[in-house]
Amino acid sequence: MRKPFVAGNWKMHGSKASILSLVTGLNAQADQLGNVDVAVCPPAIYIDYVKRSLSSNAISVGAQNVAAEPVQGAFTGEISVEMLKDFACDYVILGHSERRAIYGETDAEVAQKVKVALTANITPILCVGETLEERESGVMESVIASQLDAVLDVVGIDSFADIVIAYEPIWAIGTGVTASPAQAQDVHEFIRGKLAGLNSAIAEKVIIQYGGSVKPDNAKELFGQADIDGGLIGGASLNADDFIAICKAAG
Ligand code: PEP
Repeated sequence: MRKPFVAGNWKMHGSKASILSLVTGLNAQADQLGNVDVAVCPPAIYIDYVKRSLSSNAISVGAQNVAAEPVQGAFTGEISVEMLKDFACDYVILGHSERRAIYGETDAEVAQKVKVALTANITPILCVGETLEERESGVMESVIASQLDAVLDVVGIDSFADIVIAYEPIWAIGTGVTASPAQAQDVHEFIRGKLAGLNSAIAEKVIIQYGGSVKPDNAKELFGQADIDGGLIGGASLNADDFIAICKAAG
């Protein structure tokens, strides 16, 4: 049995005041979480603040990105894996569609970042997903397959024992349009099946989150699908009550 995992992607939101209020709300309800792994991923500058403000070790902290360079050095503006490790970050979101689309991150760069994170024992949350155009033109599976292949080529199937995958249809992110549970399950099954073709034991173990407009009222049905093991939550993770309700729906 896979233990579900829900992570909150706070993106570039927050201030010390709003983050303290959000974390206070999470602290108040953290003992209700149940059988689910939970993480929040604040903007990097607030990672330590969140870590120190969380009173429960039921909630881990992750980053939203990391430098592709394996060691620190002359890379202005970047944050290394060692630095994330120094602040006890357990996870890092990689290959989010916003980083791919807005900052031009390629499959190869994402794969390199996954490799660097694994080396530091930080669990990558590897995001994959298609645009609406790709879905409608019938290339969805090949797009997702090549996003996975880029990482498989660099780290190999065995490393997927230590990788979380987040399937995030781009058309569902921040739009209020959610993939139907059946649509999401189809893609999750495809992803697990692809990995099973390489190593069935690892495919059975790998956590595949769904992300894209998950809310308290649709979480239970999505997480009830056979191959959906929790979620990567954007907007709704900025509200403590909503985020906790979503986590509880997975547990
Ligand atoms: C995300 O950005 O990873 C995400 C899933 O966002 P939202 O939940 O707001 O659609």
